[in-house]
This record gives sequence, structure tokens and C-alpha cells, in this order.
Amino acid sequence: MTYENSKINTTDFIRKTIREDLSSGKHKQIITRFPPEPNGHLHIGHAKSIHLNFGIAKEFKGICFMRFDDTNPIKEDEQYVEGILKDVSWLGYEWEEKLTYASDYFEKLYVFAEELIKKGKAYVESLDAKKIREYRGTLTEGGKDSPFRERTVEENLTLFRKMRNGEYKDGSLVLRAKIDMSSPNINLRDPVLYRIRKVSHLRTKGKWCIYPLYDFTHGLSDALEGVTHSLCTLEFEDHRPLYNWILEEVSAPCLPRQIEFSRLNLHYSLLSKRKLIQLVEDGHVTGWDDPRMLTISGLRRRGYPASAIRLFCERIGISKSENNIDMTVLEDCAREELDKNVPRVMAVLRPLKVIITNFPEGQTELFEPASHPKISEMGSRKINFSREIYIEADDFRENPPDNYFRLSPGNEVRLRFAYVIRCNEVIYKNGEVSALHCTYDKETRSGVKPIGRKVKGIIHWVSAHESVSAEVRLYDRLFSNPFPGRADTKGDFIKDLNPASIETISDCKVEPGIKEAKSEDVLQFERLGYFCVDSKLSRTDALVFNRTVTLRDTWAKVEQGQKRQS
Ligand code: ATP
Ligand code: MG
Repeated sequence: MTYENSKINTTDFIRKTIREDLSSGKHKQIITRFPPEPNGHLHIGHAKSIHLNFGIAKEFKGICFMRFDDTNPIKEDEQYVEGILKDVSWLGYEWEEKLTYASDYFEKLYVFAEELIKKGKAYVESLDAKKIREYRGTLTEGGKDSPFRERTVEENLTLFRKMRNGEYKDGSLVLRAKIDMSSPNINLRDPVLYRIRKVSHLRTKGKWCIYPLYDFTHGLSDALEGVTHSLCTLEFEDHRPLYNWILEEVSAPCLPRQIEFSRLNLHYSLLSKRKLIQLVEDGHVTGWDDPRMLTISGLRRRGYPASAIRLFCERIGISKSENNIDMTVLEDCAREELDKNVPRVMAVLRPLKVIITNFPEGQTELFEPASHPKISEMGSRKINFSREIYIEADDFRENPPDNYFRLSPGNEVRLRFAYVIRCNEVIYKNGEVSALHCTYDKETRSGVKPIGRKVKGIIHWVSAHESVSAEVRLYDRLFSNPFPGRADTKGDFIKDLNPASIETISDCKVEPGIKEAKSEDVLQFERLGYFCVDSKLSRTDALVFNRTVTLRDTWAKVEQGQKRQS
């Protein structure tokens, strides 16, 4: 596996339990599973669970099953199955031959259900969904027994077999566990185990018209796979008594232990497939892989390396307390990983032409800066200095404030890797600055200090004739509320979308070497951040870059600044 370089010694409560279970001899080998429902693509929250389950299996020389929880054929789709496998494998985790589907166990689950019926622990219910809800009671009030609760074993068996044979309409009957309608835990008030759904299933096609529910399926699938520790998120804590009840009532091959940990949430984002689907379907984003989405495919398209996501999962750790993480934690992981081996280039996002009036026309001078300041094996690149170059419009101010060290009329600045230039004249067109006339000082070639004066600022540039055009997309948080849908918008998270979450700049100029960049390559544009070649062809076929992340966290400062003003 590719996450061997993990340095953090993970000692969370789950690993502690596992160590105890191994040293006491309770288990000889640890078996975990990652069980997504194929009803959407994976997001960063799933990465936490993947990292935990596959990570533990790897650390303790165990096994992790990649299991699809495919019990709801209405919502499931083959494209999700394929996408999920692609994402898990891209993240660097391997399931080898341990790829399973809950539907592999439908026949066995059915036998377990009959076993419950035969023991008098399950019955066929004729009340409709609305009545079942009414009878269930509330959090403060116990439920009522269904009039069908005391059907005989024979009657239940006959009805259940007929349900399987397709003799009843969708929704007309369900199979329920017979536990306790007065339990303070609603999950134990005779939960539904099977329902009729006359729909074709992705894998079993038309074989079944009754489908087991999640609670019934999950624990039994765990047991059938010999899972030792069934790790899930905290919302399943109240389901644990049911999980255990089912395993104890049937002849399950083993008793996996369910342990819960807290879900990951990130400020300014949403991690619920249902909501992500809405964003995609209503066109608020361009797709599941929109670089603003915290889906695995979105992060990948944005330029996040898989190693940054793994590092993030390691850093946030595992606990039972609320896990609301600041986006900067994720961004810092990208910065750290990308800094290690991403080639540097210069790019100008908003070009302002500079004419070096004392540089001979038609000539060029070659510079060969290193591709990476710390890794000489990465070699160098060739850039040409010439009479016409572009600098960032923002690196010039006509009326500079105090302490402005970049270019301004009559002042000097250093061009990275090249010369010190002085701005002598500003050229206007329709009242706007359209170009600058500058002179360069031959004696200041990169590395040589100018004599008799201090030049503090260094700016990036590209040659006007040799640079290539590219489209650049800059991203901000998808939501402008740290808890979308929770505060003033009364649950309507769409109202919390950030209208300025994407800025497209169409005519940026980049060093000519980037013509060779391939889809998904990430480069550092000096001073501007990390940029990833978009994996989808643009309409014009011009290169399109997505900004992965800026070099430093500029966002927190902006936010604080805004707060101070308001
Ligand atoms: P969603 O609410 O996004 O639909 P889910 O829990 O229904 O999530 P599943 O496909 O059932 O999605 O998830 C597979 C596994 O990933 C489960 O074990 C689940 O607990 C875990 N998981 C999902 N979201 C998170 C999260 N935000 N943080 C940690 N683990 C998560
Ligand atoms: Mg789920």
C-alpha cells in the first residue's frame, strides 16, 4: 500500500480496544470493512472511514472488506459502484479479492429471517407505513403493540414466503422483529426487517421482490464476513442494541463488535450524499467532481494528491467528540504534500505588459531556474527574458501605499531569476494603464545585488512572445456560512451558497514549458499557489488550471478583516 510513510503514532480508543483484543487472544486476526451504499459518490467524510478501516487492517495485519451495502435498489446506481471503487483505489487502499456486496448474502439473510420467525422473534405486519409510525410512539411515549403481532409462526412463515414469491403489492406487508414496543430506544420497537419492492436490483436483477433493511443486513453481513470490529459513525450508537439483538437471536457465525466514532464535518461545507446530490442535480455545481465539492473526485480534480487526504485523515484522528474541522487543516495538508515535489513555474494571472526599452528588439536571454528549489534531481527549465514581458497587474501601483515594495512609477523591482527593472513611464489607453515602459539594469543579473541602492520587492513575470495562454479557475469556499443550512437560513442550505465560489480568468500567461503538462499535473505558480491541469477538456482546448490552494492561508486573514470591519 502507498500510505506506509505515515509517521503519526495512532493511539485512538479504537486501536486501543483492538490491541487489547489481540493481546487477550480474543481475536487472532482483525477484520474490518468499509460499507458504502452505492447511492452517491464518496466524500472526505468517507475518506475518514476508509482510512480508519483499511488503515487498521493494514496496521494489525488484518483484512478489510470493501463491501457495498446495496439493499435499496431504488437509489442505487452502477455508476456509483464504479466511482466508489475508483476513488478508494485512487486514495491508495487495496481490497484485493475482498470485494463484496450485501446482496451476495440475500439468500442467507432470508434464511436468518425465517429463523427469527420460527423462534417467534419476527412477524409479518399488515398495518400500513402510516399506522406503523402511529403505533411506534414517540421519544417520550411508548409504542403500542400491533394487532398483527401475535400471528402464529405458521401464519408468519406462510405470509413471508408469499411475500418472497411476489404475491403482495409493494408496501402491503413488512416483516418486523418482535422485540419491545415499550422500549425507551425507538430502534427496538419492533423494527422493520424486510419490505416489498418490486424493482430490479443492480446485481440480483429480478430475483428478489423483498429487500432486507439496513439494520438487519448490516450486522449479519459483518458476521458472515467474520468482521471483528464494525466501525461506524455515532448516529448508529442507538442502533447498537438492535445490531446485537439480531446477532444473538439468529445462529450468526460470530459476534462482531460495533464501535462508533464521530462523523467528520468541515466548516463551510456539507457532507451528506443527499445534499450533495441536490447540489449536482439542481446545477449549483458542475457535477460530483466539481473542484469546489469535497468529494474524492472533486478534490482530485482540484489537484489534491491522495497523500494529502491521507495525511488529513491521520491528523484529524478518531474520537467520539464532535469533529468540526476547519478547512485550513485540509488545505495545509495539500500545501505540505504539494510542496514536496511539485515543479515551480511562473504564471501571470492578470497580465500587464512591460516594455524593456533598453533591451534590444528581437533578442532573448536565456535563464535556467531550478524546477524545485530543494530537489536538484528535478532539473531546471528554460525561460527567455525579452524586450516585452508580462507582469501581474497587481504588482504595479500608480500611487503606492507606504511599504509597497513592488513596481511603481520611478521605482525599482527585481524580476525573479532575471534583472532589476525601473518603471519610467506609464502608458494609458482609454484612461486605463495599458503598459509600462521600463529599463533593466544589466549589472543586476539574478544573484547580483544592485550597487548603491536597495531593491526589496521580487515579482514574477513571463516573456510576452513565448508564454502560452491558459484559463485559470480560482476557488473559494462553496458556502458562505460555516454551518450551511443551520443558522439564519432555516435549513435551506442553498441560500448559504457562496455566490463568489469560483472566479474564471480566461487569458492568463504561463511559462512555455507548461505546454507539456498533462491532465491532473500539479504545478506551483510562484507566489500564486498550486494549480492543477483540469482533467476535462475545455471548449477551446486551451489549458485550464484549477487552483488547488494558495501558498499560504490568506483566507483566515480576509475573514478576520471582514469581521473587524463589521
Ligand atoms: P451520507 O450521510 O453522506 O449519505 P452515509 O453514512 O449514509 O453518508 P454510507 O455510504 O452509508 O454513507 O457510508 C459508508 C461509511 O462511511 C459508513 O460507515 C459511514 O459511517 C462512513 N461515513 C459517512 N460519512 C462520514 C463522515 N462524514 N465522517 C466519517 N465517516 C463517514
Ligand atoms: Mg448510510
